[in-house]
Amino acid sequence: MKATVKKGGDLVIKIENVSKQYDSIQALETIQLTISEGSCFGIVGPNGAGKSTLMKILSGVLQSFDGDIIVKGQSVKKSKLDVKRLIGYIPQDICLEETLTAKDNLFYFGSLYGLKGKELHDRSEKVLKQIGLDERGKDKVVTFSGGMKRRLNIGCALLHEPSIVIMDEPTVGIDPQSRNSIFSIIHELKEKGSTIIYSSHYMEEVEQLCDSIALIDKGALIESGTMDELLDKYNKPSLFISGEGINEMSLNPFGETEVKGNGYLLQSEDPLTTLEKLIVEFRIQNVLPRKLELYQPKLEDIFFDLTGTQLRDS
Ligand code: ADP
Ligand code: MG
Repeated sequence: MKATVKKGGDLVIKIENVSKQYDSIQALETIQLTISEGSCFGIVGPNGAGKSTLMKILSGVLQSFDGDIIVKGQSVKKSKLDVKRLIGYIPQDICLEETLTAKDNLFYFGSLYGLKGKELHDRSEKVLKQIGLDERGKDKVVTFSGGMKRRLNIGCALLHEPSIVIMDEPTVGIDPQSRNSIFSIIHELKEKGSTIIYSSHYMEEVEQLCDSIALIDKGALIESGTMDELLDKYNKPSLFISGEGINEMSLNPFGETEVKGNGYLLQSEDPLTTLEKLIVEFRIQNVLPRKLELYQPKLEDIFFDLTGTQLRDS
C-alpha cells in the first residue's frame, strides 16, 4: 500500500458548502472539502458527476455559485485577482490558437498573467523544456499530435509558476507516451511542493498519482480522505481466484463469493487460513488455479460499494 506523502500539510483550500445549478440541473450540491498544501488531490467521478464544474469554480473561471472557496485564507468571491495568481488551471477542453507556434501560444498566455519582456521569454523556454516540447517551440500547433497539444495546454498554465495547479482530465484521449510525459510533469510539480488538484474518471491513474481523493457522483460528495484511509476503511479481507474448473459453487463453502472480472472474489475474515483450506481442496480435486491471491481493494471497488455502479459504464 502506498504511503501518504504530505509535504506541508497546512490547509491550502477550503471548499465551503459549494452548490451550482445550471437551469434545471443541480451540478453540485453543498460540497465541503479541505485540501492540504503540497498534496496531490484527486477528484474522481463518472462523466457528468460535476468534476469540471468544481474545477472551474476552484480556479475562478466560474464565478456564480453558492457557498465559498477559501484559498490560503482568502475568499475567491472577495479577492478574485490575488487568488487567481496562485492558481494554474488546465481546462478539460484544449484551449490553444492552432495557427500560432507553441512559443507564441505561451507568450500569449504568459502575458495574460502579466509576464513580459525577458521574464516572459525565459519562463516560456523553461516551460517548453518542462513539457518536453523544447524542439518544437517554433512549430505551429496545428502540426501537433493530440498529446502534444495537451502538454502545451498544461504549459500555458504553468508560466506564472502557480503554487496550485488544477488539471481537469488531462489524459483523456492521448497516446501512452504523452500520458507518461504528463505524469512526469506532475511528479516534478509534486517534488517542488506544488499542490495539485487532478480530476479523472480513470481510477488507476488517481490511485497511482494522488495521496488524497474525493469521490463525487451526481453532484454530491460521496466520500473523501487520504488514499490509505479509504482503502483501509473499505478493505474487506478477500481472495481472488480464477482458473479452469473453478466456479462459484465450488467456492461457496469457503465464504461469500462474487464474480469479479474473469474470476471470483471470496470474502474471508481469515484469508490465510481460507487460502490453506483452498489449496488442500484444489489438490484433492486436482485443480490448478490460474490465480490464487490475497485481494487488495481498489478505488473502483470503493466507488462500486458506495454507488452500486461501475465508474466506467456510467
Ligand atoms: P464532469 O466534469 O464530472 O463530467 P460537469 O461538471 O461537466 O461533469 O457536468 C455536471 C453536470 O452539469 C452535467 O449534468 C452537465 O451536463 C451539466 N453541465 C455542465 N456544464 C453545463 C452548462 N454550461 N450548462 C448546463 N449544464 C451544464
Ligand atoms: Mg469534466
